[in-house]
Amino acid sequence: MNTSATRWPVAVLGATGAVGQAFIRLLDGHPWFDLVEVAASERSAGKSYRDAAKWLEGPLRASVAGLTVKACTPDEVMAPIVFSALDSGVAGEVEAAFAKAGRLVLSNAKNYRMVADVPLVIPEVNGDHLGMLAQQRALRGWAGGIVTNANCATTVIAAALAPLHERFQVTKVFATTMQAVSGAGYPGVPSLDILGNVIPYIGDEEPKIETELGKLLGRYDGQQIVPADIVVSAHANRVPVEHGHTVCLSVGFATKPTPEQALEVLRAWRGVEAVRGLPSAPEPALIIRDEADRPQPRRDVNEGRGMATTIGRVRADHLFDLRLVAMSHNVVRGAAGGSILNAELLVSTGQLAGLRGS
Ligand code: NAP
Repeated sequence: MNTSATRWPVAVLGATGAVGQAFIRLLDGHPWFDLVEVAASERSAGKSYRDAAKWLEGPLRASVAGLTVKACTPDEVMAPIVFSALDSGVAGEVEAAFAKAGRLVLSNAKNYRMVADVPLVIPEVNGDHLGMLAQQRALRGWAGGIVTNANCATTVIAAALAPLHERFQVTKVFATTMQAVSGAGYPGVPSLDILGNVIPYIGDEEPKIETELGKLLGRYDGQQIVPADIVVSAHANRVPVEHGHTVCLSVGFATKPTPEQALEVLRAWRGVEAVRGLPSAPEPALIIRDEADRPQPRRDVNEGRGMATTIGRVRADHLFDLRLVAMSHNVVRGAAGGSILNAELLVSTGQLAGLRGS
């Protein structure tokens, strides 16, 4: 738990975008983190947050609305913990500059996810991979560091398959995604392209799903992450849903489970012990629905305050061993909420010593 008497000052980079706004909503009233700074591009810097951001959902607290948006440099943004919702076009350089300057960066961008010394973490699934952070800091001579969370569609898949992998060892996955428009940020996909339509392509999404899953379900041996040996074939589709990525999965295993055995394992799973009880941890992390027509984003996306993954339709598969459908909130579980939970786990396990900033 958070043993420090005071709340940690935190900043959000890319605070004006879809994920940045989710950070601001989720940090409102957070027991351990105090949002003190917001930053975005030069287009927004110098403006009040109220004027710079087109606020999308719910009330905007006056104390945040009145903050002046800063430029994304460690000379301007002083908080020791920095949540990054930056576009990948800029995240690489900016996040490294913050880490070098002694800040802990919790990144949503793709840039560092597959770098060997950077933890790629879904806390309930592989919270122990955060141990790589100490090696990263030593190796790079950084007082700070970078921790990433996964692509939002990969997050759904990894959460649903982690319990099954632990018990039956996943060997191959065929995944078809139906991804919400909010996954493309704001303003994102033009309405005339997506209303009443399905777009069978999301730039760069399939390679992310196909590579990140092995790292997430891999093993941290104290020195490195040994990726799980899983072959993934992904089809990524954009659908006219506001929030919630749904994924249909056909899965092959080293030890073939019956649907009943798989359901028993999914229902019993509680994930990494150290995560339970953290402020943003959903309880349970997985919700298993028996109805033939669930999960559905409209009905299930806000389970566990947007942090739970809903699973249904677990049944035998004619192609591989098992089929199932999984869904979670792409902006909360798959982005801002996932980063905040990573930070909570780092605080509660005392892994933040030596950070700089004020
Ligand atoms: P977005 O709505 O387009 O927001 C992008 C943010 O980056 C804005 O705050 C923007 O600031 C800022 N930015 C752009 N160029 C910049 C620059 N040169 N310098 C500093 N800041 C700059 O995108 P998003 O959906 O929030 O996604 C943010 C990141 O999270 C991306 O890396 C994305 O891949 C990842 N992600 C998104 C989701 C999702 O469901 N949306 C899920 C997982 C991961 P201005 O307003 O000033 O331009």
